Amino acid sequence: MAVKIELENCMQCYACENVCPNNTISESDKGPVVDEKKCTDCGACKDICPASCII
Ligand code: SF4
Ligand code: SF4
Repeated sequence: MAVKIELENCMQCYACENVCPNNTISESDKGPVVDEKKCTDCGACKDICPASCII
């Protein structure tokens, strides 16, 4: 299952984009966007997110 990002708490640092081994997260005007087909739920983005807003 793909992760979900709670954008209301996201500070758009994009640490998640940089750490993702599958290039699953991309940038947008509203914040990071997860490609649900590519996410393997590895947890790397959850671990690095300083806002703990990836669930
Ligand atoms: S690491 Fe967390 S706070 Fe930073 S852009 Fe990603 S979801 Fe937002
Ligand atoms: S859980 Fe892993 S594969 Fe999915 S978006 Fe986060 S870092 Fe990328």
